[in-house]
Amino acid sequence: MSEHVRVAVVGGGPAGLTAAAALAGRVGGPVLVLEREAAAGGIPRHSDHGGYGLRDLHRVHSGPAYARSLVARSRAAGARVETEAMVTGWAGERALEVTSPRGRRTVTADAIVLATGARERARPARWIAGDRPAGVYTTGQLQQLVHLHHRPVGRRAVVVGAELVSWSAVLTLRAAGCRTVLLTTELDRPELRLPIRPVRTRTRVAAVHGTGRVSTVELEDLRTGRRTRVECDTVVLTGDWVPDHELARAAGLTLDPGTLGPRVDAALRTSRPGVFAAGNLLHPVDTADVAALDGRHVAAAVQQWLAGGAAAAGPGLEVVAEPPLLWVAPQLIHPGGPPPARGRLLLWTAERRRLPLVTAAQDGRVVGSARLPWPAAPGRMFRVPYSLVRGADPGGGPVHLTL
Ligand SMILES: Cc1cc2nc3c(=O)[nH]c(=O)nc-3n(C[C@H](O)[C@H](O)[C@H](O)COP(=O)(O)OP(=O)(O)OC[C@H]3O[C@@H](n4cnc5c(N)ncnc54)[C@H](O)[C@@H]3O)c2cc1C
Repeated sequence: MSEHVRVAVVGGGPAGLTAAAALAGRVGGPVLVLEREAAAGGIPRHSDHGGYGLRDLHRVHSGPAYARSLVARSRAAGARVETEAMVTGWAGERALEVTSPRGRRTVTADAIVLATGARERARPARWIAGDRPAGVYTTGQLQQLVHLHHRPVGRRAVVVGAELVSWSAVLTLRAAGCRTVLLTTELDRPELRLPIRPVRTRTRVAAVHGTGRVSTVELEDLRTGRRTRVECDTVVLTGDWVPDHELARAAGLTLDPGTLGPRVDAALRTSRPGVFAAGNLLHPVDTADVAALDGRHVAAAVQQWLAGGAAAAGPGLEVVAEPPLLWVAPQLIHPGGPPPARGRLLLWTAERRRLPLVTAAQDGRVVGSARLPWPAAPGRMFRVPYSLVRGADPGGGPVHLTL
């Protein structure tokens, strides 16, 4: 079975739903959102606390209310949002294999937007030794368990990480009647001033112990190598993001070695003509409203492509993040062309700077420099004004960003 649509959006989170709302009714054909879960809305659907929607909807929502609002807006605009529809592969340049309880089919599209989001690395990817008992979750898994399935979690939790998402885990544990007895971070200091004590810094989880259920975690002090055990029945692994990039990889799109998501230009075009990307797939991880505004931003390039405009990303000017900066998105710019979403480059850093001085240099020449009034800190997005690189020579070499 096969179906053709004007635009197919993969992923019904804030980025995909907002892109669909911006495109539906404006592209001369159907806009279809394919979402693998039973309901659309993405992560906010099960993130049951406030803090969503300020930059895009100009009002603070709880996660579930925000998710419902985005679904309603995309449907009202005329997009079709199909749930339980997982894109499992490619059947051509712009042809998707879709698997759902209704069977398998191919969806071909004139343009495709990948908006598959990002997830926290689960235990197997974190090199944690010991037993394999129940009771170890990422924040996302914990929230699905508590807020979607209404299942109990435990009584005493250790939360691994001390950043914004860790606080979200603490709130979820609290809602489920589970006390957070300790937070740990490998960094010198918590990334967020959390009203939770104690926080053990420069500490890693070496092992998890327990038969059936977690009984202790073994912690290692990174300064001394000394190990101690803490009794708990729940461990939440927070942060440490990886984009859901399987489809991008399967397509053979050029990936960025820093973000591990597809490499894009400021218009959010990938290396394949007519295939675009938006949201946390590109920058793991920013807030939901920023992902949503990516969705709005990508709509312009999709419309341009459908009208016979420019195809894939590049050739453009490469932007390179130098240590301690770990990555930058987008990775390609076209000086003189349109700026990236919100006029910002998004970066991730391994080191904290309170008032960071950021310099952009090309071929040994400084093209822009600014001391920013907001910090650069591990575990949260660092946003840099695009004006810093705007003066780069389009014919010159890569632009290097340093702290
Ligand atoms: C615990 C937690 C707390 C957070 N708290 C806040 C907060 O308070 N405020 C805030 O602004 N942000 C918060 N965030 C961040 C916010 O949730 C994300 O920025 C936002 O959800 C990203 O949107 P997205 O559309 O890029 O991806 P997602 O929301 O991850 O959506 C991606 C969607 O794609 C679907 N999908 C993936 N692969 C496929 C496939 N192959 N086929 C079909 N569908 C697919 C997924 O099922 C998902 O629905 C939080 C995140 C977490 C994890």
